[in-house]
Amino acid sequence: MIKSITIKGQKYKIIFSDLPSGTAGECDKAKKVITIDKSMEGHRDVYSTLLHEMIHAVFNEVSLDQALSDEMEELIADNIANAVYEEFFSKKGVKKWSTDE
Ligand SMILES: [Zn+2]
Repeated sequence: MIKSITIKGQKYKIIFSDLPSGTAGECDKAKKVITIDKSMEGHRDVYSTLLHEMIHAVFNEVSLDQALSDEMEELIADNIANAVYEEFFSKKGVKKWSTDE
């Protein structure tokens, strides 16, 4: 698993840690740290959470989060992350993009 990602030239550290139940991941925009719940380590689903938190990081770096309510930002992050995950990271998606047919 990657240890960091770079968003608009800013490095975000990726760590695994225990998060409150019901929380899969979080993005600390001030510290530039993405935390993913330990229980997801090694699962394919981890990419869905990482994508979601990356979108929060992008919103932070382009200051889009200041133009959106928290609810709206959550809705956008969820829907984009799910769509990208389904297309490129789900079993079906990986199969689809790795064949020449
Ligand atoms: Zn979120």
